[in-house]
Amino acid sequence: MASKVLAAVQVADRKIELQEFALPRIGPHEGLLRLEACGICGSDYEQYSGALSGGGFRIPYPVIPGHEPLGVIEEIGSEAAKKWGVKVGDRVAVEPILHCGVCANCLTGRYLLCRGERRAWAYGYTSTATPPALWGGYAQYMYLEPNTVLHKVSPTIPAELAVMFNPLGAGVRWACTIPGTKMGDTVVILGPGQRGLACVIAAREAGAERIIVTGLRADAHKLALAKEFGAHYTINVEEENTVERVKEITTGQMADVVVDVSAYATQPVLDAIEIAKPGGTVVLAGVKGPHPVPNFFSDRIILRELTVKGALGVDYPAYERAIRIIESGKYPLAKMHTHTFPLEQVEHAIKVLAREVPGEEAIHIAIKP
Ligand SMILES: [Zn+2]
Ligand SMILES: [Zn+2]
Repeated sequence: MASKVLAAVQVADRKIELQEFALPRIGPHEGLLRLEACGICGSDYEQYSGALSGGGFRIPYPVIPGHEPLGVIEEIGSEAAKKWGVKVGDRVAVEPILHCGVCANCLTGRYLLCRGERRAWAYGYTSTATPPALWGGYAQYMYLEPNTVLHKVSPTIPAELAVMFNPLGAGVRWACTIPGTKMGDTVVILGPGQRGLACVIAAREAGAERIIVTGLRADAHKLALAKEFGAHYTINVEEENTVERVKEITTGQMADVVVDVSAYATQPVLDAIEIAKPGGTVVLAGVKGPHPVPNFFSDRIILRELTVKGALGVDYPAYERAIRIIESGKYPLAKMHTHTFPLEQVEHAIKVLAREVPGEEAIHIAIKP
């Protein structure tokens, strides 16, 4: 094991540099993860661009980003080994959100909404000034604090696919758990990015009878992939009217469940409300930043008794389900993985995901240190 740890550190908006840190000493309740891979998602771009700073949450620079870590237990304290049920050499996926374990939200199973006292609230978003500095996945090693939630992952899966536990977990929670998707349901997914595609797989697993995915003209390859993953229909929103098309496909019945995973566009929110059938459920999971939704009439929700739910993170059962789906080998997930970059290229990787690099089209990207 090296004595120094290399990590990508965000020091300001749109500025990431490589820094070296000392390996931390691990106490009986803690662990050390040797990273195999860390996924990148839209939240990484928001963090990189500083957009999160404007949204009421201030990024505590300097910070090691990376909140989708997958790795091998390098070192573990005796108490942590008992509590987590893992040993040195085990491969694990790490949940990003840390929790106190004793506040009202934690004690009622809503640990993603923990408001209790804790040293750090999430991996990937904690300053390197908070000891022992290694709180992010874009590094060779990451510190595991006592309340970390881990999931064992089969060592036989390629790291860049195993790390999809995060988007796939989101698909399970947002397209199945939160809306309560049942066998025979019609599910419409607005947005065909990695999370939209993960929602397709999850809806398929839940037994949805009709899965419809929307996207832009530039998303043609993602929409094709959506069909390979189990979508029955795709809609190009630049050429077709989404609401009319869903009406046609469902012969006027409309959708039991609509999931919006599109980032920034506000029209999908209005479409979602029109696409849901009376009594249906709309899940809002695509952040819109500072943009309000114009022409939003709340009466549309009242008159048709819709249930509208917000979805932010992924919880324990959804991660477990996602990992079992990856291990099953049932879906050609490798087709979703488009790029792998080393630590030195974190900044470039984030730009590729955000379509800031001409000629590059990404769906799923992993950083491998
Ligand atoms: Zn993410
Ligand atoms: Zn708590």
